[in-house]
Amino acid sequence: MIHILNHKFERIALPIASFLIKTPNHNILFETGPHSSIKELTAELARHSLEIKDIDQVFLTHIHLDHAGAAWVFAEQGAKIYVHPKGYKHLADPSRLMESARRIYQDMMDMLWGEMHPIPENQLHILNDHEEFTFDDITIKTHFTPGHAVHHAAFQIGDELIAGDVAGVKEEGAPSVIPCPPPDIHIEDWLASIERLRTLNLKAVYVTHFGKVSPVEQHLDEIEFLLKDWSEWIRPYVEKEVPPKELIKPMQAYILEQLKERGISEDKLTTYEFRNPTSANVFGLYRYWKRKLEFEKKK
Ligand SMILES: [Zn+2]
Repeated sequence: MIHILNHKFERIALPIASFLIKTPNHNILFETGPHSSIKELTAELARHSLEIKDIDQVFLTHIHLDHAGAAWVFAEQGAKIYVHPKGYKHLADPSRLMESARRIYQDMMDMLWGEMHPIPENQLHILNDHEEFTFDDITIKTHFTPGHAVHHAAFQIGDELIAGDVAGVKEEGAPSVIPCPPPDIHIEDWLASIERLRTLNLKAVYVTHFGKVSPVEQHLDEIEFLLKDWSEWIRPYVEKEVPPKELIKPMQAYILEQLKERGISEDKLTTYEFRNPTSANVFGLYRYWKRKLEFEKKK
């Protein structure tokens, strides 16, 4: 059974989850959330009669701070940390990751995300694609799922999947959106990852922002539509070399209109912008097209 732990992350109205599986001899955590909400996570673990030191295995879908920022806290208490080979070096030495985050978030950095300390290499397990791990009665299967980040993995347990961000952001009763921050966004890779998820015949996916989503097929259709639609919206502007800053307002208007059409209530619109800021999506999608168009020119 997969338990959802709520970080009650109200700083930017972004709901963040961790997921817990208890087996007779192991306590397995997926996603640690950021260091800034470790108190809330500790309280959630306590509801399951657990402390940080009781978690012996930590699986990370990717190393963005809202997913992996507190991994070092669990490592300090002895946990083994499972991470994609392209994210591994940032956990062993988080200085560059933290520097670039500080450039973006500036003096909000500590309040939003907190600290990140290096994790000793002997506690890091570098994942392989398709790798399987058995703990008592459960088996966890690794699926590399790039697109949102090059270092993204999802974890299958039976017919359920811990999806991180590859299956988008989805809250009950509200339309889903796709988080497209720079620098890694890659639409073809992301679509291929969605196709891979379709082959698994899943009954449910667990998205970090936020919770259990089913039926899966219909949800994946929606994510696929948004990936194509948002990236095609921005493409002509990149071709005309309109500066990305000028696209934030028009894309905001486009997405809000689309959210209304998809049935979101007026009062929820502003929180959506907080949750998945259009500025980040513009820069992420712009960078994707710019690299792609330059590459095609060179051919
Ligand atoms: Zn992410």
